[in-house]
Amino acid sequence: MKISIIGTGYVGLVQGACFADTGNSVICMDVDEKKIANLKKGIIPIYEPGLDEVVKRNTQYGRLFFSTDLKSAVEKSKIIFLCLPTPQSEDGSADLTHVLGVSEKIAGYLNEDKILISKSTVPVGTVERLEHLFKKKGQHTVEVVSNPEFLKEGTALQDSLKPDRIIIGTRDKKTAEILTELYEPFVRTGNPIIIMDEKSAELTKYAANSYLATKITFMNDMANLCEAVGADIEWIRKGIGSDPRIGKNFLFAGIGYGGSCFPKDVKALIKTSGDHGHKLGILAEVDKINQNQKSLLVTKIRKHFSGSLKNKTIAIWGIAFKPQTDDIRDAPSLVIIESLLKEGAKVRVHDPAAMQNAKKVFGSRVHYCESSFDALKDADALAVVTEWNEFRKPDFQRMKTLMKEYIIFDGRNIYDPKELKKAGFVYHGIGRKAE
Ligand code: NAD
Repeated sequence: MKISIIGTGYVGLVQGACFADTGNSVICMDVDEKKIANLKKGIIPIYEPGLDEVVKRNTQYGRLFFSTDLKSAVEKSKIIFLCLPTPQSEDGSADLTHVLGVSEKIAGYLNEDKILISKSTVPVGTVERLEHLFKKKGQHTVEVVSNPEFLKEGTALQDSLKPDRIIIGTRDKKTAEILTELYEPFVRTGNPIIIMDEKSAELTKYAANSYLATKITFMNDMANLCEAVGADIEWIRKGIGSDPRIGKNFLFAGIGYGGSCFPKDVKALIKTSGDHGHKLGILAEVDKINQNQKSLLVTKIRKHFSGSLKNKTIAIWGIAFKPQTDDIRDAPSLVIIESLLKEGAKVRVHDPAAMQNAKKVFGSRVHYCESSFDALKDADALAVVTEWNEFRKPDFQRMKTLMKEYIIFDGRNIYDPKELKKAGFVYHGIGRKAE
């Protein structure tokens, strides 16, 4: 099939590469000229394990192309995927400027009937809006489909090659058949392709992210209760996770969810629900608790140092919103580092993949360290912010030779409080009990 992907970011590049890998001819288009120029040279703009190999292979075999020319991408493809940003607007709703703007342009470039698919996370009713736009504009038919994306940064390639499910939101039988054929190679083990109406598909994406954000937030708030009553969240996690109705995943307490999706999608669903007269109060509370949770580590650090962080040196391990990605959009680290700087602390950071992105945000305000141990030099405390694997089993005795004080604020509960106490550290986790 001839496919174009409009928006070559985390979603667009991964999906484009995967569609090319199953033999389709794919043009990945983007307005970012530097990104496209780099991709043409084989330079991958994001950190995503395994992606470079798939991009390289498919570029070499002449199945994957990169372009800044929207008109040509539209003219050359039957199927057009929108993988454009839908960031948060000031009122919490999803900003559809890119999606609507690009669709207007596409309508002007149509040379035949097409299928236009939104992989961007868009509020209920967006497909309907786009259908009106294309009907009003052109002499060619455009079937507009909602096909929400569920890949997870860090495992995006595997998620796309072997998705848990594919949601296709269309009421057009022929379009559903074409997209089923496109996706069949990815679900050979039997994972479902679920065909539903457009609105249900649009809402499924928001429901999934909001449910996961709620699950995380429940555990975070439960961890806060553990601290109040003297219980340990790790026992609670094990105790409830063994119930198959609850499940073991997404039960780790920490410093709040972040990233480019959960925060904005929760807010957008709150806005949608309010606009339709069915306020989802539960999500408003989730959002509020999560904001507080992001400040929790700094509250603990401040309290430990009796209210003043002036001239304290804090080492930060991890800036990315989660391991295996360089994405720092809406990461808890941003809130934590900004607060520490505001309170006069000196900040030494290390992240295995996100240093370049961190430099764009913090400039020269923090000290960037080549290694996790380098970050510990003369530190009054270490704050673990992202649970990268390489932080899990450090040489604690070597750490003590570098740190001024032996204090660890473990925002991801990756250490055993008892072990750290034995190793001579003062340990602060999230909802953990030291004894
Ligand atoms: P991204 O910011 O990484 O990529 C978007 C790309 O679109 C950028 O490269 C940008 O330059 C390009 N772009 C912007 N305006 C353009 C235009 N007018 N024409 C062509 N290209 C343009 O975003 P992303 O993380 O890939 O997310 C895309 C969508 O997918 C969002 O709606 C997001 O909510 C959703 N989503 C993201 C993830 C994820 O984990 N990142 C997962 C599922 C769904």
